[in-house]
Formats: sequence, C-alpha cells, structure tokens
Amino acid sequence: MVRLNPDISKFLLQWAFQRFSTKFKIKNNEIILDDCIVKFKDVHSSSKPQDIDFGYRKCQIKYGEPNFSKKKVNGKSIVEFNFDLPRELYDHLTLQHEKNARKDKHGRIRHKHVNSKIAEPSIDILIENVYTVLKESGIKLEKKKFKNKEFAICLTHDIDRLGEDRLLRSKTYAYQSLRNIPHLKIKKALGLIKGVFSGKNNDYQIQSVLDLERKYNADSSWFFLVSRKDSDFDINGQLAKATFQLLKGQEIGLHPSFIPLDQNHIQMEKSILSRHAEINGVRTHYLRGGFPETLVELEKSGFSYDSTFGYIDQYGFRFGTSYPFNVIAGDRILGIKEIPQTLMDTQVKDFKTVTKYLEDTFKILKSTHSVFVVNYHPSRFNIEKYDDLNLKVYEWILKKGKSEGALMTSIEQVMNSIYS
Ligand SMILES: [Zn+2]
Repeated sequence: MVRLNPDISKFLLQWAFQRFSTKFKIKNNEIILDDCIVKFKDVHSSSKPQDIDFGYRKCQIKYGEPNFSKKKVNGKSIVEFNFDLPRELYDHLTLQHEKNARKDKHGRIRHKHVNSKIAEPSIDILIENVYTVLKESGIKLEKKKFKNKEFAICLTHDIDRLGEDRLLRSKTYAYQSLRNIPHLKIKKALGLIKGVFSGKNNDYQIQSVLDLERKYNADSSWFFLVSRKDSDFDINGQLAKATFQLLKGQEIGLHPSFIPLDQNHIQMEKSILSRHAEINGVRTHYLRGGFPETLVELEKSGFSYDSTFGYIDQYGFRFGTSYPFNVIAGDRILGIKEIPQTLMDTQVKDFKTVTKYLEDTFKILKSTHSVFVVNYHPSRFNIEKYDDLNLKVYEWILKKGKSEGALMTSIEQVMNSIYS
C-alpha cells in the first residue's frame, strides 16, 4: 500500500482536532498541545477490522492495534495511540470501500451494492474515543460548540416542484391514485382523483414548512432546480418570485438538473439562480454525480460546499460522519467542503423504525458534537397526495432536536458556526 501523502495526513489530523477549541500544532503524525503530545502510529497496510472502545462506544479500526500507552517525559505527557488515525479518516472520507462498486447511469452508488455499516457515525465515535483517553489523562481539551449548542441538525429542502404546472400536477395525482387502488385504499384513491380536477395547488407547501420550522425556532436551506425541463415551475415566473420573497432570510442553494455535471453547465444554472439570491451551496437533483470527480467541477463553479453525497437508497453516514470536510481528490485537498446528506424523506418507510434510529443517533451526535443533514421535499408534505408519514417524521425531528438542544438551521449557518 502507498504511503499517505504527508500534507493529506496533516490535513486530516487538523480536521479531527479542529473540533476542539484548544490550540495545537501538528508535526508528522503528532499533535502538540501545551501540556501533552498525542502520537499516532504510521501504519501502511490494513488488516481485518478490529473493535476499539476506550470507554465511549465501540467502533472499528483497520490500521494498527486498538490500544494506547501513556508516559511522561520531562514533565510532559505523551499519549501514543497504536493505530493510524489519519489513515482511518482517509479511508472513510475518500470512500475506499466503494472502489469497485457498480454505478448507475447517473453515476450513483447504492448502499446495497457496497459492504459498509453506515448506521452509526463511526468517525465521530472514533474521535470521541481518542478524546475520552485524553480527557481521562487530565489533558485540557474543550469541544467546540455550534453557537452554544452541542450538535447541529441541518434542515434542507430540494425544490423539484412548486405545483405551478397544473397539467403535471394532475398527472402526479393520477399516478398516486393508480398506486393506491391495488392496495384497496379506495378512499385515498378517490381523494386523489378529486385532486386531479381540483384547481387548488396543494403541492405548494412552502409556507406550511416555514410555519412549522418557525414554531421550533429553526431555519433551513432550499435547493432550487432552475431548468424548466426538469421542474414544474418557471424559475423567473410569478410563483418562484413569490417563493423567494417568502424565503427571505433562509439560505437558497442550487439543485443542478439533468445537465452534464461540468463547470460550464453548472455555472450556467448558478448564474440564473444568482439573480434571485446569493448562492454558496449545491446539491444535485437525483443525487447525481460521482465522488470526488463531481466535486472538482463544483469547486471550479465557485461553490463553498456540496451536500449531495449521501446514499440514495439508505439513510446513515456514508463517510462515517456528516461533519463538513474539505474533499480530497487524488493528491489535492479541494477548497470546497462536502457535508453529506444523512437522511432523506424517500428513505423513510416506517415511523417507529426511523424515530428509534434518530433517537439513538441524536444521542451520539450530542456527545460527539457532530452534525446531521436532513432533506425533505416540501411537495411531499401534501397529505392529500402522499400519506402523512413525511409530515409526522419531520415534525418529530424538529421537536426532538429542540428538546435535545440542537442547533437547527441552514447548512450555511452551521458552516459559519464551525469555520468563522
Ligand atoms: Zn431533486
């Protein structure tokens, strides 16, 4: 196995330790703090995953041994971990487990085609285990907060539909009623058929989402499609204009449509959307694109972050974390950050299962001071067309997030809370 580029290794340690407000320096694989030196082994080849738990929670490592030693030299503590933290982080953040996975026509890789556990944020847990050892060794290390909150939930919405096109709206109602008839949900189907002919635009749920978020003091990010071909509204039309007015104060981002994902096409869409708001963030429609090659194009197009690369078919932590990180592409560390989507409405099938999962996950994120990214399409809050599962889960998230003391806001605000 090739040695990790020293600049990348240094960057990864920097990234792991910038979660703490304590000042430090990095030399080789060592973190130099005021009262302590923290060392990690330089390990070049991986072995079978081994469990590691230093008193926080179990996770796995592949480079080195799951133990550490402590000594004192000239009154200074030295804590040496017998595994390679940068290498562990590198494998997760560059998706090494997907090396040979098959891609669909949109460049996407499905979770069911890769062998990886994504339910828990394994990187956040690993860093917390390191922290636990240092803390127990009496080393002063303070975890940073997100505007005085212990963890962050980014609330985001992809805007594929506003329901402006009545014909298209009717078609989607008809489609949903056909889907309901075989399940003998006749009442639902009849309601849907009524919706086909109704003049009311219940696909437009922007105001109700805003009202709901306001109830929990939350803000959010809204990613807009701009191509008329792929959306059901005109980005320069009356309804879109009124929508931008409603969304004043919220973050607006780009949702690139079915275009080739290269700098030219992306910038064209970005410039159209930039007439309505300042754009820093992006998430592709259908979560299209490949990692990291699409990020190279998005960086060239001037975005400061992307939030595309969760799995399409399963919620969880594809990179072992949803804490934002600068993307590594070959030997380069890009300026653009990835903040992976953790959960999307279409992945949720059952209220009990998902809320149990979120309850456990929020606990982990609260102790590790990390991040969760939710994506809910407002048009799916139309309970005349869909069932009320989306609405129920989304409101549960807001309520739980508030009671757990999470910062619930747009990606831009969470980025600001970390990096400024
Ligand atoms: Zn979309």
